[in-house]
Parts: sequence; structure tokens; C-alpha cells
Amino acid sequence: MPATPVREFNVVVKDSSRVDILFGHCYPSTYRVGMTSLALQILYSTLNAREDTSCERYFRHQTRSPATSIETGRPLRDNHIVGFTLTYEEDILNIIQMLEAGNIPVLAKKRCEEDPIVIVGGPVVSTNPEPYADFIDAFVIGDGELIIHEIVNEVQDAESRIEAITALSMLHGIYVPSASPESVGRNMISDLDSLDYPIAQIVPDVETGSKLEPIFGKSFLLEVTRGCGHSCKFCLIGHVCRPRRTRSLNKLKELVKLGLEKTPVRKVSLIGSSLGDMDRLEDLVCWIVDQNVDVSVPSLRADSVTPNLLECLVKSGQRTLTIAPETGSSRLRKVMGKGLDDDDIDNAVKLAEAAGYSSLKMYFIIGLPGETDSDVEDTATMIRNIAQHSTMRITASVNPFVPKAQTRWQQEPQPEIEVLRNKIKQIDEKVKNVPRVTLETLDLRGARVQAALSIGDRSLGKVIQAAATYGGYGGWRRAEKESGIRFLTLANDTEHLSKGFPWAYLRE
Ligand code: SF4
Repeated sequence: MPATPVREFNVVVKDSSRVDILFGHCYPSTYRVGMTSLALQILYSTLNAREDTSCERYFRHQTRSPATSIETGRPLRDNHIVGFTLTYEEDILNIIQMLEAGNIPVLAKKRCEEDPIVIVGGPVVSTNPEPYADFIDAFVIGDGELIIHEIVNEVQDAESRIEAITALSMLHGIYVPSASPESVGRNMISDLDSLDYPIAQIVPDVETGSKLEPIFGKSFLLEVTRGCGHSCKFCLIGHVCRPRRTRSLNKLKELVKLGLEKTPVRKVSLIGSSLGDMDRLEDLVCWIVDQNVDVSVPSLRADSVTPNLLECLVKSGQRTLTIAPETGSSRLRKVMGKGLDDDDIDNAVKLAEAAGYSSLKMYFIIGLPGETDSDVEDTATMIRNIAQHSTMRITASVNPFVPKAQTRWQQEPQPEIEVLRNKIKQIDEKVKNVPRVTLETLDLRGARVQAALSIGDRSLGKVIQAAATYGGYGGWRRAEKESGIRFLTLANDTEHLSKGFPWAYLRE
């Protein structure tokens, strides 16, 4: 029985007895989050375009079962290849739980000929796959589209599972832990225009506000840029997804026209980091709005907004401008390489107000390397000043610094939880009585887990496996205690990295 939670458009159903390769694309989170993933749309469309392959989807939550597909109820373990996209480190627990639910041995070394080959891709594993190495047969390092056909071809041609995995280990941009390679390269697409793009995207037929509605609403996902040309010292994208690549304006317009013919929506969600760096973003947005189609954009760099761009966005229904000053301290912004000064931020706020935005979302990081009390005070002052000089509702999202592998701040420690808590308190005290300001913070304990997984090594596999059994933050604590492996405080000092990086074999 299919595990379809709702009716969907553009679903592909094939007779599995008439294809050679069954591919299970798994998103280790909710249906709602997974259906917002561009990677899912790209892989689904690319794989199903092959006559010899059937790709079906699996989600961890909000479907009848994580072990049967949305399309036809195909059991997870019936696939030849089970591929996950890992966007957030903590979702490794969902991967393990999905494998367990699907009766696939959790440890790669315990899998046998009848088991699927388990592959994981995404930016998290492209920078440090080591903590997950016990569970995964092969990792995709870098852009997945470049290698997906080769993966399918190798599995199709191989006479056995082991032969297939060995063949995968020879491919550029594939890391097979059991092969213990000395070096693994990363795949990087140079020309986005030359890539096939998913035109007929899958969209659920749900009401606005439904818990199954994708995060950006029912929309056509349009990838405008990939990577980033800046290199903020804390940012993973700014280090491993360089250089920034952009589709041409003509190509983007063509994709919108074709996409809206095949995807029954009247909204385009632009995807890309540092979108404002695209030369003709304003032309693109205003052109889409002129077609009577809504547009949504993710966060914009404060120095890239223009009056006309914001007016077009407001015309298309956007009411919240999102920017990421990262810190109220101009000194610290300079140190991290953000390249934004206070005037850029003030100017963006004024333009948003003038264009008719009703709210502003700002992202800040606390616990940054070299941060002083005075820097934290500057963040509180910035939030308060902006709120006092505008009529917009202000949401300040204040999140802890997480050292990420392969960034210039990979060896900088995450402050202890008490220190972070005090910094949040310092900001809260200064803004709590300011009208129209809401302070949001991530769970600090979750940030500790994320930090440990970001810079950890293969020994963390034991902790992860036990934590997946217990669940929740308490599960991580218990897993740490029982395994005797340091985990929750691993990123509070990064001394262990001075002996070498667990991901040292990964190359450009
Ligand atoms: S924080 Fe934004 S601007 Fe800086 S490197 Fe990352 S994506 Fe680019």
C-alpha cells in the first residue's frame, strides 16, 4: 500500500519489474522539510528520466512509514541503492532509525549481498564524513548530479554488491570508508546553465498552512546560484562551495516559463546563498512579478538590497526581509570577513521600511572566536536601535557558534553552554522590554551535538548508534556515558585537532 500522505502532482510511478535499478531517495526528516529540498527534486527527476531506473521517496516523519515509499509503498530494503541527503548533522539519528525500520543492517560491515547499497551526500558529509563512516557504504563528496549516473551505471554493471562498492570507490568524488583511500577529490559543477533542471517538480496538493506544506509554500524551486563568493570564517558554504556559480538571466527566465507550465503553482522560490551578489537579481525578481507570479527569496546580504528589488518583492507578497548581520560588532564582523559595515545594515533596514515591509528577521551568532562582552552588547544595541527607529516587527535569531570542518574557524572552540547562556541573557535583558522585538534562540544543547559531529572522528559512531536507540538529548548523554567516548564537550576545546584532521584525506 502506498504511504502517500496526500495527493501530489508530478509523481513518477514505474513498473518496478521493468527497470534494472530501484533507487530509494530518503530524506531523514519530515515530509514538509524534505519536500523543500532542491536536491530531492533534482535527483528524483534525473533518476526517473532514465528508462532503466525507478526512484521513489521515503521520509522519516509525517508519512505512514519511513520504511515504505510514498509512490507505491515499495519496501526500503527492496531498493538496490538507498540514497540519503544529510543537510543537518543531527539527522544522522533519523538515517539510522530509517535503516532500522527498513530492516537494513545499521552497520555497513554487517550488510550482505541482499542488502541495498547505502549512500549519503550533502554539504555536511562533503566536509567531514568520518563520524558517520560506520553506517554508510559510500559518500558523495561535492555536487551529486555530476556523479549520479556513474553511480547507477556501476551498480547496474556489477556482478555483486561488493564489486559495485569497489567500483564506486574508484570514482572521483566518492568516498568508500572500507576502501581507506589516501585521498578523495570533490566534484564541482562549473557551469550551472549546462545542467538538466527539474521542470516538473513534485508538489503536494495541500491547503496553505497545512503541516505537510513545504517550508516555502507550494512553489517552483529555482536554483539561481550555487556556492558563495564570500568566505566568512565560520561558514561551510563559503569554504567548500566555492566559487559561486550563477545561472544566466536568460536561462533562469526559460526555467521559470517551462517550470510553471509543468508545475501547478503560482509562486517561485529562489534558491542560493548570497543571492544578492547575482548581477541581475532585481531584473529577475521584477520580471517574475510582472508575470503575476509570487516570488520568495531567502536571506539577502544587507549590502545587496536596492529600492526597486524590495518594492518588487513587496508587490509579490513578501512581507519579511531576512538579513544576517551575524554580530552587532563591526570589529568582529571585520574579523570574520563578513564585509558588511553598520551603514549597510542601517541602509537595508531603511529601504525595507520604505518599500512597505512589515517585519525584519536578523540572524546573529554568539560565542564567536575573540568575542568580548562589549561585542555581545553591540548586538543587543543593534537590535534595540533598529527596533526603536522602525515600525517593523523585529525577530532576532541568536544562535551559538558551531565550528565546522574545513572552515577557517574549524579549530576554534565552541564556548561552554553556561557561557553561551549568559550571552543570550545579556542580549535578552537589553531587548526584552523593547516593543515589537522577539528573540529566538536555538536549543543550546542541540548546538553542542552539532558541533561535536562537525569536527568529530570515526570513534563517534558508537555514540551515534546508541543515541539513535535512546532518542532525544538525554539519549546523547546516556550514549556518551555508556560508551566512555567524549562527545558533548568535544567542541569546547579543539586540542585533539592539533594532531590532525579526521577529514584530512578530502581534497579540492
Ligand atoms: S555567511 Fe553568507 S556571505 Fe558569508 S560565506 Fe556564508 S553564504 Fe557567503
